[in-house]
Amino acid sequence: PAFIDINQVSVVYDSKKGPVTAIEQIDKQINQGDFICVLGPSGCGKSTLLKVIAGFIQPTKGTCQMEDKLITQPSWERGVVFQDSTLYPWMSVQENIEYGLKMRQVNPTMIKERTESILEQVGLLHVKDAHTFELSGGMQQRVAVARTLVNKPKMILMDEPFGALDALTRLNMQGLTRDLWQEEKTTVFLITHDIDEAMTLGNRVWVMSKNPGKIEKEYQLDYTYQA
Ligand code: ADP
Ligand code: ADP
Repeated sequence: PAFIDINQVSVVYDSKKGPVTAIEQIDKQINQGDFICVLGPSGCGKSTLLKVIAGFIQPTKGTCQMEDKLITQPSWERGVVFQDSTLYPWMSVQENIEYGLKMRQVNPTMIKERTESILEQVGLLHVKDAHTFELSGGMQQRVAVARTLVNKPKMILMDEPFGALDALTRLNMQGLTRDLWQEEKTTVFLITHDIDEAMTLGNRVWVMSKNPGKIEKEYQLDYTYQA
């Protein structure tokens, strides 16, 4: 069975002007360990597809399953990072990262271990006690990524995670994501506007088209990336 099975999924939104078909009959499988980059014009349904997999919205038609279980709600097993992920400004970097684990009542020793290890991995150990509003945009985005990764999700879903970063920080974050994929074997689903990013970062590229939102083409990539 596929890790993620997107089975004939359509999403129709209700709007004031009437129903809007965001995606239509998408039928795809994602294997464990895949790194999928999704490209396509604005409004073709990329975010909608991500939200279905994440469990934020339910398909109007069809089903989406993870390991043979219907996805009906968000879960820490599927970590999500948005372009402007909101951090808690009244908490320190470390507290932001620990928050989800505390909510899940993971034991304190484990929380400490995992938080320290992730802080080191993303290069934030030296600012762990800072408030997030003191940090640059790139660092804040690292906190957002760390906050998701600390849960050890089976899959990470990213919606234009690096679009707003300056070029150097972006390169750095791409490398980090790539390393995590290779070392932790986390399945990654990443939406991007950047063709170079899509063509170098993962092992599969889905190209979506608009009206209605569909996956028009898929490219399978050889491993060619160099840090
Ligand atoms: P993308 O991420 O590729 O830009 P989206 O998934 O955000 O595309 O949107 C796909 C289509 O669905 C667009 O036409 C958008 O305007 C519409 N849409 C998205 N969210 C909603 C919503 N909550 N209500 C109504 N229409 C929406
Ligand atoms: P959408 O309509 O799906 O939101 P946009 O093309 O408007 O797609 O891009 C989404 C966001 O990403 C916008 O806020 C835009 O400012 C930002 N963005 C896209 N590309 C870049 C880039 N190269 N540098 C900085 N911001 C970018």
